[in-house]
Amino acid sequence: MKLNQEQARKEIQKLSQEIEEHNYRYYVLAQPTVADKEYDSLLEKLIKLEKEFPELKDINSPSQRVGTKVETAANTVTHKAKMYSLDNTYSIDELQEWRERVEKGLGQGSAEYVVELKIDGVSAALTYEQGYFVLGATRGDGLVGEDVTHALRTVRSIPLKLKGDETSWPRLLEVRGEIYMNHEEFAALNKERKANDEILFANPRNATSGSLKLLDSRITAQRKLHCFVHSFGRLEGGEGIRTQWEFFNKAKQYGFPVNATSRLCKSFKEVVDFCLEFQEKRGTVPYDIDGVVIKVNFLAQQQKLGATLKSPRWAVAYKFPAQQATTRILDILVQVGRTGVLTPVAELDPVGCGGVTISRSTLHNFDEVKRLGVKVGDRVLVERAGDVIPKIVKVVEVARGKPFSIPKKCPECGGGIMKENTEDVAYRCINPSCPKQLERRLVHFASRGAMDIEGLGEAAVVQLLAKRFVKDLADIYFLKREHFLKLELFKDKKAHNLIAAIAESKKQPLSRLLFALGVVNIGEKAASLVAQRFGTMENILKAKRADFEAIHEVGSAMAQSLTDFLGQASTKKLLQKFKKAGVNMREPKQQLISDKLVGKKFIFTGELSRLTRSQAGSFVKKLGGEVVSSVSKNTDFVVAGENPGSKYEKARSLGVKIIDEKQFEEMIHEK
Ligand SMILES: [Zn+2]
Repeated sequence: MKLNQEQARKEIQKLSQEIEEHNYRYYVLAQPTVADKEYDSLLEKLIKLEKEFPELKDINSPSQRVGTKVETAANTVTHKAKMYSLDNTYSIDELQEWRERVEKGLGQGSAEYVVELKIDGVSAALTYEQGYFVLGATRGDGLVGEDVTHALRTVRSIPLKLKGDETSWPRLLEVRGEIYMNHEEFAALNKERKANDEILFANPRNATSGSLKLLDSRITAQRKLHCFVHSFGRLEGGEGIRTQWEFFNKAKQYGFPVNATSRLCKSFKEVVDFCLEFQEKRGTVPYDIDGVVIKVNFLAQQQKLGATLKSPRWAVAYKFPAQQATTRILDILVQVGRTGVLTPVAELDPVGCGGVTISRSTLHNFDEVKRLGVKVGDRVLVERAGDVIPKIVKVVEVARGKPFSIPKKCPECGGGIMKENTEDVAYRCINPSCPKQLERRLVHFASRGAMDIEGLGEAAVVQLLAKRFVKDLADIYFLKREHFLKLELFKDKKAHNLIAAIAESKKQPLSRLLFALGVVNIGEKAASLVAQRFGTMENILKAKRADFEAIHEVGSAMAQSLTDFLGQASTKKLLQKFKKAGVNMREPKQQLISDKLVGKKFIFTGELSRLTRSQAGSFVKKLGGEVVSSVSKNTDFVVAGENPGSKYEKARSLGVKIIDEKQFEEMIHEK
């Protein structure tokens, strides 16, 4: 039935409301009431209607959550009310001194305080006019920030429209909050970037900041950023508020995410207890925190205390002590990835820190090297926070010697280097026959998530290349027994097994081959989506860029690099060789093997020892189940591997059934 405009308007309104309610339940309350699939179908319906009736499309429609591409870099925004930074205290004694200053300033012996976790993210100001989100800006220097509205619209916990009775909405409301990425999503993002041979983010804060600055907010949307609102900048009209605690309650009513651990303290002892409690529990919080923020509760008292040029007198941060050690940098190496990306790595004089010995630390990228100003011989401070990977915090003692400079040539092949201005500045070796790149590509090709060739690890690959038995990926399919017998530590049996494994890998589905080819930006998931959509390599070769982009979850960067890759003469030659070798180029249709897991929702956390995550996930899907990304009461099973993350804790607190890898295997294999 075709709707008329009035009917369409009503339908769009109804769908928008429904979708935003689900966003709120999922991202703010963490109590979803619909399956991801139902949510997606509501959103698709809305997008379709908005396409039919473009005049009815609203900038605050939930369809904006998926992001758009803007052409120009962010505009600057002058903050109408200055965004102060907080003074830090580093001990309970210093915190007590602050309290004395506050109480002296107020001329009274005690005050009420509000305490909240200090999230290590990116500060932002969100402005609402007549209840609608109109402007989102970064803090910048406190006076001027950047307009990142389009990116912030994709953050699903940020309401595009306030909740509750319209008549109670303020005319103007500017709230401040912290945008952040949680540990699990950060680890997954860096893992994917590593698999795609992209430069890594140094920490969740950098990843968040980078994601907000993207011109293509469709990528921001995939990064799953979160938000906690902690204060307000401006408030005009509506019901007034008298205290910070009232603000939290008001913010919750309006649909903002407010950190549930925040506490109203009637005495300063409670403040100190809170600080010490979370200093202890720091590692169990699923996102980076670096301390506690303490605020005087009454706004009238805040006003009385006022602010210095830099920071308010009525609020302070208590910073947690970190697990730190100092050591010397022995060397800074530059590693070459399979698409040529150069990654700096610091070799350290081994030192104990927080229970582990650290002898190496990735410097992530050259911007980070520059920011730290590190060079060989420097003494540096290394730190472990919670269960996070050790990192170099700063130089504590400068050595004499030349500063580190970005290599002008590839350290492996001496080839030229290109600077790439993507999200961050990446440097790449552009020599297509760089032996190191081929080595990394071959290791990737044979790896478990790719063609899964057991026995073709780094040691064998390095030798095959050194002996010039292999000059491209396809050459491994033409190797004979005598080739392997010429390698070190290869005897009859080992050669036989490897040849069998190589032959067996020819049967892998197209999705694996596509992933194994190591195309820039094409990870396991994208490869699988493309293979399922097109079915054969022949169809993929006929496809245009737009055909790739039409696949849900395949972004423009992925489509572009796939098109570039497929268009190269060397790719065509390589694929011909694979074909000649008898490598499978088809994707089997995904079908349900059984329906025994239909309707069951699974979450994986920690490292599995026998299956990769994607293998485990495809088992679940083939049996009719669903793999979801965040734990809720509606999750049926949490499969916990080694070192499970925060999802494990959350599942336990919600009473969700937790099983181990063995139980999971029994479940999928039982009749
Ligand atoms: Zn090179």
